[in-house]
Amino acid sequence: MKKITLFFILAFSSIVLFAQEEEKKTVVATASMMADMATNISGGLVDVKCIVPIGGDPHLHEPTPRDAQLVNKADLIIKNGLTFEGWLNELIENSGTKAKTIRVTEGINPIQSAEYKNSADPHAWMDASLGLKYIENIKNALSELDPENADVFEFNYGVYKKQLEDLDQYIKTAIQKIPAKKRVLITSHDAFQYYGRAYGIQLEAILGTSTDAQAQTSDIVRLNKVIRENKVPALFVESTVNPKLLKQLASDNDIQIGGQLYADSIGDKDSPAPTYIDMLKHNTDVIVAALTRESNTENESAPKEDGSSSWWLWGIIAALLIGGFVMMLRMQS
Ligand SMILES: [Zn+2]
Repeated sequence: MKKITLFFILAFSSIVLFAQEEEKKTVVATASMMADMATNISGGLVDVKCIVPIGGDPHLHEPTPRDAQLVNKADLIIKNGLTFEGWLNELIENSGTKAKTIRVTEGINPIQSAEYKNSADPHAWMDASLGLKYIENIKNALSELDPENADVFEFNYGVYKKQLEDLDQYIKTAIQKIPAKKRVLITSHDAFQYYGRAYGIQLEAILGTSTDAQAQTSDIVRLNKVIRENKVPALFVESTVNPKLLKQLASDNDIQIGGQLYADSIGDKDSPAPTYIDMLKHNTDVIVAALTRESNTENESAPKEDGSSSWWLWGIIAALLIGGFVMMLRMQS
């Protein structure tokens, strides 16, 4: 009897699993941060795909035939908006998709680009408290797409929301460890304005809010001045931007590259930033370590040097004493 019941339970659950597998909806996100958010909330109940591969630059993406196929099969498209994906409208048109597109920055008051008039800065995900709006919009869209699983999405969203709130607090506390004068972040492109506004750090970049631009001599002159005046100890390269200009700037000013930051893409599985949360945490840890390093060495270096020079002195005295002792023994014998 028991065996028969077990058989029916197994048969029934495999039918349910099979049905779910059959009905899984496909969600296509433009960039990896949003794909990761959707994966967290969906808990595997929808198929999440990403257009721009990890490490790719979403500003400069050139859609491929594979992208058109992906978008064509989508049941929902997730975009950042605010001028981030200039190539998306054409891709959607060419793909012939009927999927709904949602903008995850809906409800966010964007920072205006300093460089282009009437143009918004797209990098709102860099502020974890705005990331909360992203995940709320994604949760609502998933629930509308797949109402039967809305309870699961709501639950996963609740867990994820708490993690983002903790992350927001973590970053706030960490940035405070940098001496106030040293809170200057110099990067390749202007992706950190939201981060700077939320966590109290001044931003300077070689390029503007898009990587689709050439550096101007006036930008280099401005940055050299900022580095000198604030005694900035380090600059930061980005995972999706060619580091050449930044390396040149660091060597001209004889300062360090503080590390690699992730702004427009999360990192791959083996990187220190394989998720959206890891990306913001890693960036913060790298920034704090590099911008506090100089003041630490200023404090620690003095006693260390004293210690080592006194060891040398004791060594010489000991050698002289031993030498003298050996001489005395020889003279006696
Ligand atoms: Zn960017």
